Amino acid sequence: AKTSGKNGYRFFDQRFSDAIRDRHRRELELVHAIEHDQFVVYYQPRVEVATGTTCSFEALVRWAHPTRGIVGPDEFIPLAEERDLIVELGELVLDKVCAQLAFWATTGQAVVPVSINVSGKHFRDSRILRVLKEAIDRHGVPPHLVELEITEASVIDGGEEVIHAMHALQKMGIALLVDDFGTGYSSLAQLQRLEFDVLKVDRAFTRELNRSNEGRVLFTAIITMAHALGMRVVAEGVESREQLQTLKALRCDEAQGFYISRPLPPSVSQPMFTHRV
Ligand code: C2E
Ligand code: CA
Ligand code: CA
Ligand code: CA
Repeated sequence: AKTSGKNGYRFFDQRFSDAIRDRHRRELELVHAIEHDQFVVYYQPRVEVATGTTCSFEALVRWAHPTRGIVGPDEFIPLAEERDLIVELGELVLDKVCAQLAFWATTGQAVVPVSINVSGKHFRDSRILRVLKEAIDRHGVPPHLVELEITEASVIDGGEEVIHAMHALQKMGIALLVDDFGTGYSSLAQLQRLEFDVLKVDRAFTRELNRSNEGRVLFTAIITMAHALGMRVVAEGVESREQLQTLKALRCDEAQGFYISRPLPPSVSQPMFTHRV
């Protein structure tokens, strides 16, 4: 028993150091990817439920990995957050989106705003206001074409600086969206205090829309309260015609999801303007 215990420890140590090595390797690879700008941004439309018109695009980052192909953010955002690479990565995305908006403007088509996901750590970083202003100026983008998506958790316990940053952004004309609403612990009253413009309801709620009466009741309550507090409502993760029809009946303002369009590379994103509802 003594020996096997010892072996057990050795086995554990071995696995443990393998895991550390693997982690370290993935970290270095991510640093390298940031230095060599291996990222691309995909765009997913958000449509007005009543008309099917595209009112905005959400910018979703992907890693154009040299050997693995297009890698989704769930595989590297958490590591970037942990290792403090998220600010650099976030700044890269801000710049890319501004460049894309400037390019779309040259094509002569009407350009709709793009919302950018900002992690809590990045949002609380004191540089964000300046960096965003600089990117907007450098590319000559009208500030109202930029919107920011922030999760409840990243701002709810934020102090004065966070509220100050939010107001400064809104003064520039930048709309602020609550991302993944319903997955955190905040109440709508708290969000109202922070004066968000748009509420993006997490797809867990959209999924329940046509499954149960409770799901529909809950969504209705969220819409009613958000409207009373002066916020527009976006349903995330709309995957069927039935869900979209229910949202229309509930007077939800906007919808986003695979049923309308998957996130697409910029070359194919902008021309699709109206979607069947
Ligand atoms: P999110 O902000 O909630 O973005 C929506 C995610 O849901 C996207 O996944 C999108 O592709 C996916 N989605 C859209 N419609 C549907 C649908 O109908 N059904 C289902 N099942 N999924 C749908 P994606 O692109 O893999 O992004 C995952 C998360 O990674 C995002 O969740 C966001 O939290 C984060 N992320 C993406 N881009 C960035 C970025 O530039 N910066 C930061 N900090 N985070 C990002
Ligand atoms: Ca988002
Ligand atoms: Ca979301
Ligand atoms: Ca999310």
